[in-house]
Amino acid sequence: MNQFEHVDVIVVGTGNAASCAALAAREQGARVLMLDAATEDARGGNTAYAGGRMRVVYRDVDDLSKIINLSDDDVQNIEFGRYTAENFFDDMARVTQYRCHPDLVEHAINSSFETLVWLRDKGVRFQPGRQAARVNGKLTHWGGLPCEVWSGGAGLVEMLHSRARADGITICFETPAIDLLRDHSRITGVRAFHQGRAVEIRARAVVLACGGFEANAEMRTRYLGPNWDLAKVRGTRYNTGRGLQMALAAGARAYGHWSCAHASAWDLNAPEYGDSVVRGAYQKHSYPLGIMVNARGERFLDEGADYPSYTYARYGREILSQPGMFAWQIFDQRAVPELRDTYRIRQVTKVTAATLEELAAKLEGVDAAGFLRTITAFNAAAPADDAPYNTAVKDGLATHGLALPKSNWARRIDQGPFEAYAVTTGITFTFGGIKVSTRAEAEDDGGNPLPGLFVAGEMVGGLFYHNYPAGTGLTCGAVYGRTAGRSAAAFAHTVGMPV
Ligand SMILES: Cc1cc2nc3c(=O)[nH]c(=O)nc-3n(C[C@H](O)[C@H](O)[C@H](O)COP(=O)(O)OP(=O)(O)OC[C@H]3O[C@@H](n4cnc5c(N)ncnc54)[C@H](O)[C@@H]3O)c2cc1C
Repeated sequence: MNQFEHVDVIVVGTGNAASCAALAAREQGARVLMLDAATEDARGGNTAYAGGRMRVVYRDVDDLSKIINLSDDDVQNIEFGRYTAENFFDDMARVTQYRCHPDLVEHAINSSFETLVWLRDKGVRFQPGRQAARVNGKLTHWGGLPCEVWSGGAGLVEMLHSRARADGITICFETPAIDLLRDHSRITGVRAFHQGRAVEIRARAVVLACGGFEANAEMRTRYLGPNWDLAKVRGTRYNTGRGLQMALAAGARAYGHWSCAHASAWDLNAPEYGDSVVRGAYQKHSYPLGIMVNARGERFLDEGADYPSYTYARYGREILSQPGMFAWQIFDQRAVPELRDTYRIRQVTKVTAATLEELAAKLEGVDAAGFLRTITAFNAAAPADDAPYNTAVKDGLATHGLALPKSNWARRIDQGPFEAYAVTTGITFTFGGIKVSTRAEAEDDGGNPLPGLFVAGEMVGGLFYHNYPAGTGLTCGAVYGRTAGRSAAAFAHTVGMPV
């Protein structure tokens, strides 16, 4: 049988959102075809680059044990705390400056726990997350991130695809969708290239889960602004905004923060796109332990404004607006042992020096005198050495008297040897998307569903504005993916096969 015939639901993409959509539609009895522009080696989009943290609502360790295989040792020795729907909602509202769409966010939050349980039932394995610190001798979690997919995003793709294959879902690689087929207002399939040949694939419903426009330099410049074309892409090269263009051309409504994106500090010499060996390890998120300086040798952001899981996604944008689009992160020997593992990889742009003067001379592209003025002023403004420094909480150890404060974890940087790491902007994904209902139906300008079209993952607009709390992309992608798959299958039951 031709793989493009007798399809109920086409799912465009093979990342987290698409895979959840495909599995959910299949669960409802639909015949599902997944399409990916990528080669099989590069399957799974940004999901395959993700660290695997998933933000989730839970009441206690009993809830978590429905998601993670916890050993008795874990239960006894780890303090998991709780993370309520109100906590999740507050975090989303605060970091998005109260702009996120309340109903869309509420659906993601209220479905987060049951969706992770569902993922586990589909064969995804979870482990305790890394956002934890020793408090009174006990490993203590905070901030809604106790769950991490075992072996990260690449493992998630592997586990979801193996379940998809077992469930009889066909996956076609090297098959970019280029357009939606329409019969009057109803979406009836996609036009695609399959191994270089144009094909039209008809189906009762289509789910678009094919990412934002982060890998499209032209769209980045058009929507995000000057110099975004020069940003490094942290993940897949295939998320070129085609899905968004297809949906908009079919009459879907643009929604969300189109001029903003998730972007973080990324090694200065990382390749143009994500690298399948190093993956996320180019990221450099330990800046709260030190300071960041630009080409003038000046600090330009508050490294201790909040926990890094609430600042990293907007600090890439701050780096982009610095002269030359780079910065150096500076640490002394008190900080070095606490740096994340991503600082210890071979592919890193790093210098070390015994003294600050020697370091100043080694910071390529930086005004040495400016740097020495900055660090001298910073050290003079930092609290005394005996102040109670604690990275497990916002310790309130702030600088005094600086025009640009460091609000927490301010410690003098004066114990050599010193280490410095060069970073630039790495874009993760774009925030602008399509307006959907809480059933993941794509809506038109009048707020009505576009019959037969469903949207999930990075393509959903209205969730993220200005910033992003860590671990939310995979959770929202899984929730809206599963919702889109279910809605698409339900819609497919109600309509005939297009001819
Ligand atoms: C380095 C890195 C680390 C991250 N860490 C985390 C984390 O720990 N936790 C978290 O929650 N989030 C994390 N994220 C963000 C997270 O990965 C994304 O939010 C999420 O994976 C997006 O899933 P998605 O299914 O929407 O898109 P993707 O996973 O990007 O999938 C999109 C798919 O569409 C395909 N595609 C694109 N265009 C077409 C087309 N025209 N036709 C057919 N196929 C097409 C792509 O090839 C791909 O398969 C991270 C991202 C990166 C890059």
